[in-house]
Amino acid sequence: MADAFDVIVIGSGPAGYVAAIRCAQLGLKTACVEKWINNKSNKPALGGTCLNVGCIPSKALLESSEKFDESRHHMAEHGISIDGQVNIDVPAMIARKDKIVGELTGGIAQLFKANGIEWLQGTGKIFPDKHVQVTSADGKTVNSYAGENIIIATGSVPFELPATPLHEDVVVDSAGALDWTDIPKRLCVIGAGVIGLELGSVWRRLGSEVVVLEAQDTFLPMADQRIAKDSLRQFTAQGLDIRLSARVVSSKIENNTVTIEYQDKDGDQTLEVDRMIVAVGRRAFTDDLCNDDVEMEFDERGLVHVNDYCETSIPGIYAVGDVVRGPMLAHKGSEEGVMVAERIAGQHSHLNYEAIPSVIYTLPEIAWVGKTEEQLKSDGIKYNAGSFPFAASGRAKAMAQTAGMVRVLADAETDRVLGVHICGPSASELIGQAVIVMEYEGTSEDIARTVFSHPTLSEAVHEAALGADNRAIHIANRKRN
Ligand code: FAD
Ligand code: NAD
Repeated sequence: MADAFDVIVIGSGPAGYVAAIRCAQLGLKTACVEKWINNKSNKPALGGTCLNVGCIPSKALLESSEKFDESRHHMAEHGISIDGQVNIDVPAMIARKDKIVGELTGGIAQLFKANGIEWLQGTGKIFPDKHVQVTSADGKTVNSYAGENIIIATGSVPFELPATPLHEDVVVDSAGALDWTDIPKRLCVIGAGVIGLELGSVWRRLGSEVVVLEAQDTFLPMADQRIAKDSLRQFTAQGLDIRLSARVVSSKIENNTVTIEYQDKDGDQTLEVDRMIVAVGRRAFTDDLCNDDVEMEFDERGLVHVNDYCETSIPGIYAVGDVVRGPMLAHKGSEEGVMVAERIAGQHSHLNYEAIPSVIYTLPEIAWVGKTEEQLKSDGIKYNAGSFPFAASGRAKAMAQTAGMVRVLADAETDRVLGVHICGPSASELIGQAVIVMEYEGTSEDIARTVFSHPTLSEAVHEAALGADNRAIHIANRKRN
């Protein structure tokens, strides 16, 4: 008889490993199947995209490159001069990133041990009656396990553009761009989405001339457009050459030069660069996940079809994270994992999909939660808007980071906070305050009546909430009728 578990989780990214840990905490006998092999050590690793080639390594490089850029260009105003040249040792920067990845993925292995979770190394495939077959990396060992419940957490992989096939370390996807050990002189990024902006920023700060080609005519259409326009101005001033309405049609490599053909409003264009990053979105990874006789429902985009509780079309099988609808974000997947684990254990957990924050970790950072002004207008919802620029924040001035603003959008009738949008220093941390307010169905008056420390960036959130009622203190308010 096959080894049996209460729960078998397939995939150990932030959705899968968190689900597995919560299941184990609740006393369920849990296994997690994971096939990831680290491309440098050649050893199996937990943590999925997020820890290995996503959130964590990209933030490590953003941090290093920001320090380099700051040392080169932003010290003089503090009265600090640096004798001689500021240099960057790119292999050392990459090695630091790899060390962080190793520590964190190793940490998940420790957590699995501490929680009694069995790591089944290899590729999992679902068979009828909730059996999971696990094939080892070398294909030599195949074992079968029975799960009372199965949680699919197989994540996502980058979309490939047939027009621009990946090629060695010259045309790469996001994972490849986290491993370059030299600085390309001319770099093209296809896609001005989250990855394009973050990785474009990393290499621009290190010295590359970066052109970002974006097919859509609107910059960051999912963000509040005042914030998007403000941040586009700042990225352009930094030297990121972002070209909108630019659809790539082909690329070829000759003599170490990539020639890209794209079309924009003025017709056919050609661009020559040394390297290219293709960052045009990600697709759910469900390749060969279910045997033919397993009747799993998928939607037209290949996502596993689930209801609000992440239940699939097959009782006892759940799916969480990037492989299901909703934003492809680590924290969204993790909270789905917790919800499913608790529901398997008989609890009544749910997830508030209206209050999931999004962050782009550029400089300035961009962060938001809830509805944008454009969404409120198209939904016909009446709202009050308050905004506060960091240029009027004492703390932001002291930090010499005065670009950007906070916007608070509150229901005109109930005053309930419907959306908060931030572009500026530490937006990724500030947005947490807005998420808590929205989770508790708070109002802009609740924020306005709250005492914030001085001088902090958080005061900008306070002032924007006051501004929604035309009573900001440190900027002039709109004239009352
Ligand atoms: P994944 O992390 O993709 O993990 C899925 C795992 O399942 C993988 O380890 C895979 O090997 C395994 N697997 C798949 N099929 C099988 C199988 N059949 N058998 C065994 N194992 C299998 N999100 C944020 O919230 N913040 C960020 O700052 C951020 N930065 C990012 C930066 C980059 C460059 C990228 C690419 C992504 C970033 N993301 C970020 C997105 C984030 O990484 C994903 O949303 C998140 O990893 C999804 O988690 P997941 O557990 O659903 O899937
Ligand atoms: P994305 O969907 O954010 O952006 C892809 C962009 O590529 C889009 O703007 C699209 O219009 C453009 N595009 C598509 N085809 C094109 C073409 N032929 N020519 C020019 N432009 C084209 O996707 P991404 O940046 O690849 O990120 C993938 C996922 O990873 C996202 O869903 C994101 O949520 C997640 N992620 C999150 C973070 C974060 O939370 N900070 C960081 C990185 C990635």
